Parts: sequence; C-alpha cells; structure tokens
Amino acid sequence: MQSQTVETNNLKSHKELEDIKLFINGEFVDAETGSTFANPNPFTNTVINNIAEGRKEDMEKAVAAADAAFETGPWGSMKLKERMKLINRIADLIDESNDEIAYLESLDTGLPISQTRNMAARAAENFRFYAKLAETKHGEMFPMDDEFINYTVYKPLGVVGLITPWNAPFMLETWKVAPALATGNTVVLKPAELSPLTANKLAEIIDKAGLPKGVFNVVHGFGETAGDALVKHPDVKAISFTGETTTGTIIIKNSADTLKKTSMELGGKSPLIVFDDADLDRALDAAVWGIFSFNGERCTSNSRVFLHKNIKDEFIAKLKERVKNIKIGDPMDPSTQLGPLVEKGHYNKVKSYIEIGREEGCEVVQGTIPEEVKAGNFVPPTLLLNATNDMRVAQEEIFGPVMAVIEFEDEEEVIKAANDVKYGLAGFVWTNNLKRAHRVANAVEAGMIWINAQNVRDLRIPFGGVKDSGIGREGGHYAFEFYTEPKIIHVAIGDHHIPQFGK
Ligand code: NAD
Repeated sequence: MQSQTVETNNLKSHKELEDIKLFINGEFVDAETGSTFANPNPFTNTVINNIAEGRKEDMEKAVAAADAAFETGPWGSMKLKERMKLINRIADLIDESNDEIAYLESLDTGLPISQTRNMAARAAENFRFYAKLAETKHGEMFPMDDEFINYTVYKPLGVVGLITPWNAPFMLETWKVAPALATGNTVVLKPAELSPLTANKLAEIIDKAGLPKGVFNVVHGFGETAGDALVKHPDVKAISFTGETTTGTIIIKNSADTLKKTSMELGGKSPLIVFDDADLDRALDAAVWGIFSFNGERCTSNSRVFLHKNIKDEFIAKLKERVKNIKIGDPMDPSTQLGPLVEKGHYNKVKSYIEIGREEGCEVVQGTIPEEVKAGNFVPPTLLLNATNDMRVAQEEIFGPVMAVIEFEDEEEVIKAANDVKYGLAGFVWTNNLKRAHRVANAVEAGMIWINAQNVRDLRIPFGGVKDSGIGREGGHYAFEFYTEPKIIHVAIGDHHIPQFGK
C-alpha cells in the first residue's frame, strides 16, 4: 500500500534501504569485525536493511575520536556564537529533512507518520532551545565584602555517552544530543538496536551542518556489548540513559568503577484519575490519546485509569466506542492512529500481558485489526476492565496500547492506589474542584503531574521521574546543568588574612 504522503515525497512505502554503518570521526565506517545485524520492519516483518554491529573495539575508536575532538579539535576553542550558529544550523537541516526523518522513523518503529512528523519538528526545536539557553545562561557571582569576588563558570564535561531507547528514537536522541553539544561536550551516541535508522540521519545532518570531525559519533550495536563498553570506558565522563528500569540499574552499577555522572530516565505506570466532577469529554480525549498515541509505547502513557464510581459506566461506554473506532493501519498512511509494535518480541510480550489480564479476571475489550495488515506486529487498542491495582497488569509496565481500568470511591483511596506501584514518572488528574486538583497533584508520587491536561510539555520544564522511574531530570536548565560542571573561581580583590605558619 502506498500512502499519499509517501507518493508526494517520492519515497516508496516500506521499501528496503541500503545497509548502514557506524559514524566515527566524521566518517561512515563498517564495524571492526565486519559484523552486522538485521533491522526488521514492524509492518511487514521483512528486513529493511543490515546495520553495522559495533562492539568494544568500535566504541574505543569512537571515544578516542570524541576525546581528541574535545581536547585538541577546534570545538573546544570555538567562540560561543560560532558554536551556536552550528547548533541552529542542525535545527534548520532537521526541519528541511522533516519528511525523510518521519518516513525513516515510521519505517523503523511502526509509529504513525502523522506522529513522527511532529516528533521530528520537536527535535529541531530542541536544538534551537539549547542554542538559546547556552547563549543566555550564565554563572553566578558571590561578592564577599571588599575582599573577594567569587564567580562560577559552566565547563563542559568532555566526552559524554548517550544511550537511547526505540520508542521515540529521533526525538529522544535530540533531547540529549542538543544540550550535550550546545554546552560544548563531544558525544558518542549508542542508539537502540531496534531503531537505528534516524540516528544516521542525525549524523548526516550534523556533518552537513559543519561540526568538526569527532564531535558527534554514532556506534550501533547491542546493549550488552556496545552499550556496556561505552558505560565502562574510563574517558567517558557521563552517561545519559533512557530505557528500562532494569537496564538503568545495571548501567549505574557498571559506571561506578569509573565514577561517572549518570542521568536515568526509566519506566512508568502512570495513573490518570477522573473524578465525578471532571469535564468528562476532555478527560476521555486525554485518556485515549495518552495510552494509544505512540502505539502505546510511551513512557508517560496513562496505562492505569482510575474512574470514580459515579461516572465509571458512562466513561467506560465511551472508551469502548473510541477503542472500536481508532484507525489501525499502515504507519505511512497519514490517517493511521495506531501502527504495529516495534518488533515481534515486544509484540509477544504485550500480547502475553493481555492474557495475564484475562487470567487475573479482567474483561478484555479490543479494537479490530484490519485483515490487510495482519503481517504486522499489531496489537489492537485494549481495555482491561474491572482491573484492581494489585493485579500484575496494573503494576508492571506493559509498554503497549493496553489500559487497565480501575474503579474508585474516594480521594484518599485513589491516592493510595495511584502511589501503590514501584514507578513514579507521570500522573494526570481530572477534576473541576480546584482545591482537590492541587491536593491530589501534590499527593501523587510522580516527577510530573498534569491537571486537566494531556502531557503537553514546555521545553523549559524538568522531565523525569521518582522511585523506579529515574534519577535526575532532562529538559530546560536541568539538562544544561547535567552536561556541565559549575567551576568556582575565587578572586581576591583586597588583602585578606592569610595565616603565617612557620614565619
Ligand atoms: P532498554 O533498557 O531495553 O534499552 C535502552 C538502551 O539501552 C538501548 O540502546 C540498549 O541497547 C541499551 N542497553 C541495554 N542493556 C545495556 C547495558 N547493559 N549497558 C548499556 N546499554 C544497554 O529499553 P527499551 O526497551 O529500548 O525502551 C523502553 C523503555 O524505555 C521503557 O521502559 C520506557 O518506559 C523507557 N522510556 C523512558 C523514558 C523516560 O523519559 N523516562 C522515555 C522513553 C522510554
């Protein structure tokens, strides 16, 4: 099937692509061993292309290139204005390539193209935002009477390692690459093995923008080999990681020997709470979008919805209607709302959770997958009705289009249930009672809470979670601070007292 957009762009839907390489020191190169791995298409389950499989020796080369670029290349001595010109140029080139980036992302991940277009646009904004921030953010000054002026300067760390997941690859990579480069670091990116395509597009763009060789490097490969070598490398100063909680704990342990700074954006099981005085139509729109956008593979998805008993039946009736009507189809079709899951293993995991839900006593309500797309990894939008918060389907991250629907009677009970989970990434509260909205928002254990809103995000705000959902924050000045060290410089402007030992 060829979609309208794809024809307009003169790109064939779901075509095979050339094999792709690693990007080290400004060159696209094969892995040292020459080995590759296959990159499957989630819509057809055929192979799109083969990807160079980087391992420890490739990581060594990439880190050495990034280290040299930091220590002796023009990057370190480049004037701020010049560096920001390059960062803004990356943003412009991303915008110019929006169609191609969206196409590659949808091909690789199965995300609907209407959504990957927005993600690519957002990625460009990340670079513009951090160019502006780097130009305006400054250190502090601490005058000490008439004796001292103390001031801070923000220094880049050096080589930073960025390890990213497959669920929104290009956008999440730029969340890290933009602040890391804008603050003057050099980068080695290890993209998720399930979604390698757009990382190479980013490398092409960064090269075209004119960044010096070695400033940005991409090493594809598996977590246990390529990722592990990056985490353990003594010349890498920090690791910014987004992915599963279990992987995050391994990375923290493995980075301890070389005392790395780490940032951890991990899993979630976020509650959306609807009280009986809420604007139900808007709450419904938000609940449906929040769990079924990004094919349900979204860290902040409202995978648990808590409905007050007075509105539960009405809300569920509307949810069922929506689930039946969500447009499932080819990710390249601009009208598709739900595409196939990223790969067979993940598809099997999500399907198995639906069976677990059934066994735990849930009523399962699902949309229908059209016959013509059955080759893809499609899981229909799924409601697990009559769920209780202690069930596995309400406790464990499923990371697919599956929402556990739980009834509650009062505020205290729902706060307790919302918090009775190991994760604490996001939460959504729907009520028109002003005091209750703030009370509940304050009481729910999460890094981010939205009141009467879906998860609209301003680039200035901190993004991240508490409990098993992460350590640290990305976004705004929080990322700026992660990628820099504040250095304090003490300047004596008078003759302060100096003890005269041994005089
Ligand atoms: P994952 O943890 O399996 O993999 C993420 C990355 O880590 C991949 O690049 C992988 O190759 C690498 N990796 C795996 N083992 C490694 C190791 N031992 N050493 C170094 N690197 C290693 O996660 P995933 O399945 O790609 O992504 C889905 C998860 O990401 C979900 O849990 C989701 O909630 C989470 N996520 C969180 C956020 C957030 O901001 N909190 C955003 C998006 C996704």
